[in-house]
Parts: sequence; structure tokens; C-alpha cells
Amino acid sequence: MNKETTQIVKELFASPQKIVIVGHKNPDGDAIGSCLGLSFFLESMGHSTTVIMPNDFPDFLKWLPGVDDIIIHERETNKSTAQIKDADIIFTLDFNSLDRIGEMQSVLEESTSKFVMIDHHQQPADYAVATYSNVKMSSTSEMVFHFMDAMGQSEKLSKEIAINLYTGIMTDTGSFRFSSTSPTTHRVAAKLIEAGAESAVINQNIYDTNSPERMKLLGVALNNLVILPELHTAYITMTQKELDDHNFKKGDTEGFVNYALSVKGIVFAAIFIENKQESIVKISFRSKDDFSVNDFARNHYSGGGHINAAGGKSSQSLNKTISEFISILPRYKNELTHAS
Ligand code: 5GP
Ligand code: MN
Repeated sequence: MNKETTQIVKELFASPQKIVIVGHKNPDGDAIGSCLGLSFFLESMGHSTTVIMPNDFPDFLKWLPGVDDIIIHERETNKSTAQIKDADIIFTLDFNSLDRIGEMQSVLEESTSKFVMIDHHQQPADYAVATYSNVKMSSTSEMVFHFMDAMGQSEKLSKEIAINLYTGIMTDTGSFRFSSTSPTTHRVAAKLIEAGAESAVINQNIYDTNSPERMKLLGVALNNLVILPELHTAYITMTQKELDDHNFKKGDTEGFVNYALSVKGIVFAAIFIENKQESIVKISFRSKDDFSVNDFARNHYSGGGHINAAGGKSSQSLNKTISEFISILPRYKNELTHAS
């Protein structure tokens, strides 16, 4: 975090503040872990904090320290709106633009509080008085660790903070596998383990809580896998019926797209998930090397994210979405063939 941003935040913190911390819609491990970690840290500095998420999140995150105090805007809209109105400072974490928070967007846009952004996505919007953005970072959770350091408060690292930040880093790096994992990421992880984050326990809590239905759904997903070897692309489709037949719960399809990317020779993978309730097809993109799925998602699916992990949506039917996707791909043949 640069000196100027550090100075602005230090001035904001001169006296105890009422702080709201917000993560993105469909929060993942990094959104929840970074927000809760930051919340414990700011409380330890004498501020009062409230963590708000736009909507619900997967059960495999519901054991994290502090998780019971999270307000879900979609469920408790009045309470959430009142907290936002009353806030001196609003921290927005793990997203780069206010259109990533669904129904909460208008509430935040009307707020007169001071905003602070901490995020690692590409092309950050300019709404905060202090923007700590670094697209090279493994995760927002790693950035919260550096934020504490910049505040000169690294001794405040508690077990609760460590567990939350470790979970965010671990989930956003695919367990320290993705190229965003730097030597510093490992050094931070080591410090978090020293502060009480038990890696084996966290891994079990996150990854070994599969329901039998989810495993069967993974079977369906793998069966639906389509491989286009000449385009170095693989994709998976999931219909609403397939989800319903397996008692789909939030988070059940998390990670499925990585199986498509794990096929030898594949540099671009996608999963298309039908969502009848929202009348959209939600899409996750993953890539290897320098093929930018951030650009691909922005150009064709009103989405975005990172170079190697991004998302977007389509308002066409699932079949139409797939046929369009297949018709777009040949334009990228050169890039897909020479990605390195
Ligand atoms: P996932 O595929 O795991 O949902 O998301 C991958 C990455 O892309 C995450 O960093 C996420 O924040 C971002 N992302 C997912 N969906 C969207 C979207 O619709 N719009 C934008 N701008 N980013 C997205
Ligand atoms: Mn993240």
C-alpha cells in the first residue's frame, strides 16, 4: 500500500469510527475471509464494525470466526440499509466496481460515507477516498495482511484474523497453485499459521464437507464436459434441471470449471450454469498463461475479473449461449494456440 493511501486511512482512523465492510455478490472464501479478518482487526483498533454481504454464501464457509454476525442484505434489507446510512466509513473488499454488489449498489451510491477500497481485480472504479488496488496480489485477504502492516499494527494479528485471512488466500489461490501465488503469499501464509491458522483443519473444513448430491452433480458436470482440442478449449454445461435433481445449494458448483482446465493441452475453460430464477446463464472462465479471460468476459459477457479467472453472464437461453460461445471462439484461435 503506498504512502499516500496509508496516510489518508490513518487520518480517517484518528478517532473511533463506525465502519461497514462490504463484500461482493455471491461471496466466496476471499470475500468472506478478507471482510471478517479486517473486521476483527478494526475492532481491535477500537472501531465498531459491521460486515454486510449482498446475498447468502456457501455452507462450507459458515464455520469461520465471526461469521454469525454477518448481515445478509437480501434477507435483512432494513437493518443493512440502516447500518450503511449510519456508517462513517465503508470498506469495499474483493470487488472493483459497485455493480458487483447487486441490489446494494443503489444503497451505497446514495451513501455520504467515506469509501475505502481494498481489491485485486483489474480496472478498479474510482469511488473511494483511499484505493488500495493491486492486481498482482493473490487475494484480497493477503492485501488485508499488508494493510495491517502498513498501519503499523501487525502485532494485532490474532487467531481469528489469521484463520479468516488464511482461508481467503487458500481458496483464491486454489490452495497456492495459481500463478498469482508469490513468494510473499507463502511468507504471509507462514505468519498466519504461526498466529494460529491450522492449515490442515482449514483445508478439511473447506474441502472435505461434500454432500453426496454434490459429488453426483460433479459426475454430471464431468459427463457434460466438451473438449475442443484445436481451440485448446474445454467447457461444461449445467442445466437448471440437473441442479434441481441434485438438490443444488450455493457453492455446489464451485471448482467444477477447474476440471475442464486440468485437461492436457487446454488453456481456456468455461462452465455455463443455467439460472432460471434470475433468467440468466452464469458463466465462469478460467485460463492458463497469458490468455486473458478478463478481456474475454468483458468483451462478450458483461463481466470481468482477473487474467486467469473471470466471470460473466448471458441473458440468452443455455443452448443459444453455447452456440454463440462456439461461434466466437475461432476469432481467438491464434491467441489460444500461442498462449504461453
Ligand atoms: P467465479 O468464476 O469464481 O465466480 O469468479 C472468478 C472471478 O471473476 C472472481 O474474481 C470474480 O470476482 C470475478 N467475476 C465473476 N463473475 C463476474 C461478473 O459477472 N462480473 C465481473 N466484473 N467479475 C466477475
Ligand atoms: Mn478475491
